[in-house]
Amino acid sequence: MDQNEVLFDRAQKSIPGGVNSPVRAFRSVGGAPRFIKKALGPHMYDVEGKQYIDYIGSWGPMILGHNNPHVIEAVKEAVDNGLSFGAPTVGEIDIAEEIKRLIPSVEEVRLVSSGTEAGMSAIRLARGYTGRNKIVKFEGCYHGHSDSLLVKGGSGLLTFGTPSSAGVPTAVTNDTIVLEYNNPKQLKELFDKEGDEIACVIVEAVAGNMNMVPATQEFLETMREETAKHGTVLIVDEVMTGFRVALGGAQSLYHIDPDITMFGKVIGGGMPVAAFGGKRDIMNSVAPLGPVYQAGTLSGNPVAVTCGLATLHEIQQPGFYKRLSEQTAKLVKGLGAMAKKHGVAFSAQSIGGMFGIYFRGKCPTSFKEVMECDADRFKTFFHAMLDNGVYLAPSIYEAGFVSITHDDSVIARTLEAADEAFAKVK
Ligand code: PLP
Repeated sequence: MDQNEVLFDRAQKSIPGGVNSPVRAFRSVGGAPRFIKKALGPHMYDVEGKQYIDYIGSWGPMILGHNNPHVIEAVKEAVDNGLSFGAPTVGEIDIAEEIKRLIPSVEEVRLVSSGTEAGMSAIRLARGYTGRNKIVKFEGCYHGHSDSLLVKGGSGLLTFGTPSSAGVPTAVTNDTIVLEYNNPKQLKELFDKEGDEIACVIVEAVAGNMNMVPATQEFLETMREETAKHGTVLIVDEVMTGFRVALGGAQSLYHIDPDITMFGKVIGGGMPVAAFGGKRDIMNSVAPLGPVYQAGTLSGNPVAVTCGLATLHEIQQPGFYKRLSEQTAKLVKGLGAMAKKHGVAFSAQSIGGMFGIYFRGKCPTSFKEVMECDADRFKTFFHAMLDNGVYLAPSIYEAGFVSITHDDSVIARTLEAADEAFAKVK
């Protein structure tokens, strides 16, 4: 038994399933997850000292690669000043101003510690602001694990084949309407019937929790038109896509002006920072100004905020997103060519530093099409890649992430591993 298996055995005796977030377990692909000891740039090293090229990037935050020296230096300096004060700090204003500058739809922003909190709070805010209860979400989209949003979510929920969760009362989800992703007709029909009763629509503009499925322009435009017409709050969940698909997030690519945006992952640079922000009029309903209660002991934690700010500074270097997009595109193009060489039905695509790989001839445009991907072939591919030192997300329902440190040699090594892996898939 290698050390990873020994540790996984030990972990399972004290931690449910041996992991602190379900998607880290290899439930759908089998085997023991790797226990990571350290990471640098595009690489992670497990407890056995084995090196992996990392395409998970802590599920999105590590856009700079691991252990960026500027970020680490800033964090060390912040630690020297104290860990948490529970009183305002200058860093909180700095990061709020930075988010506003980069995302013009945001006029005010409240920091929280996880994307789940951002989603839960954004929904409460939309309900409190509109005085309506109904919310609309889309099949395969994941917005964190708060009760009212745990209906037909993506990510781990899909991997485990449970469209919802035990312990969520139907009374809580009765007001959650689930529609098909990328189906503007269905959305319009709903709004024609009951648009005036709907508090908000929440959407991932590029879905990343049912593998990667970009929204169509028509879908998002219809959503913006209908929500504006009916006084419904449009919440764009950019926890994954924010500062990942482009500096201005998915909303800048689609030219969509949301009422509220959720952030997470990259804005913390690997530490727990998330946020929800948007139109001043709506944000002013949040406590202490307004009647919508929302709070957090560690919200805006000074060390985490310093990490996030340093990350936001680094991603604004000239040419950052051009290079990130080019490297990610090289990866998916190379994987596509390698699959073709081996005659494997496969497709892949990328947006900015985010990508999807599919064991299916064509890139999926809906949740149903994602479900058609060949899970057995993926499983064989995943393990062959892992054995060859490439750490992909262990599920057909997850997107992948590239960092700015994934240079040509890293991509070339990944493709060499893929050459062998695709040969095994046939
Ligand atoms: N929203 C999206 C789009 C996500 O991808 C995630 C997490 O993967 C969340 C919300 C929840 O964020 P967190 O895991 O920080 O609670």
